Amino acid sequence: MEKRRPLIAGNWKMHKTSAEAADFVRRFLPLVSGLRDRDIVLAPAFPALEAVAAALAGSAVALAAQDAFWETEGAFTGEVSPRMLAAAGCRYVILGHSERRQFFGETDETVRRKVAAVLAAGLIPIVCVGEREEERERGQTFSILDKQLRDGLKDSFTADAGRLVLAYEPVWAIGTGRTATAAQAQEAHAFLRNRLAELGTPAFAAGVRILYGGSVKPENTAELMGMPDVDGALVGGASLQAESFARIVAAAQPGPRKGTAIEP
Ligand code: PEP
Repeated sequence: MEKRRPLIAGNWKMHKTSAEAADFVRRFLPLVSGLRDRDIVLAPAFPALEAVAAALAGSAVALAAQDAFWETEGAFTGEVSPRMLAAAGCRYVILGHSERRQFFGETDETVRRKVAAVLAAGLIPIVCVGEREEERERGQTFSILDKQLRDGLKDSFTADAGRLVLAYEPVWAIGTGRTATAAQAQEAHAFLRNRLAELGTPAFAAGVRILYGGSVKPENTAELMGMPDVDGALVGGASLQAESFARIVAAAQPGPRKGTAIEP
């Protein structure tokens, strides 16, 4: 059984200028320099990417963008291509975040096109899926996750599993302080991994990292990470302060990554 390396990503959303972002990095790097057994990722807003790339140079912390368009170049005012992001030093791209779905018309079809383009550019997509509160209350959590996964990753079930990251982010837990319980997170992650095995292969499913996102804090990280199918965290609010994000990274201990649902 493959071991999945923990991945902890900070999504800064529309926060921090270039100078503020670079200042964060200067304070953050010494706090995490000893933690070499996990992947750490920072996702600033577009204008801060190059400043953060420069501040991260020589460190093991990787850079992510918060979105990308699916075309490489052309008359698409306001958009940024995966090729541009790679040139700016990005290794990862967050796609399909619920805020993009809610406020900017992102659909499973646009996510599908973006995932394919990001993979083609040699970058690693972090694809977000998650149900809204009313969908959970109506008992639709699994059908929503199933649709987002099937349609959003339609072209990508044959991708190298190490080059694809999923994030389960229940919308009701994002920015609300209401974290999913570890059991709720594990249930959703196990469902997603089973579906990855069915839509791809068991080996593919075993290699894909599935992050949990939704009000992750230093205090709840270890319990969430203790779940067999939780491979890391996508962190919004608590990633904005260097000390709190470093505490989350420190708490995200690599464990025996068992992959319950798909034991070969
Ligand atoms: C997010 O934006 O992906 C997120 C999980 O936000 P928060 O940690 O603030 O809930």
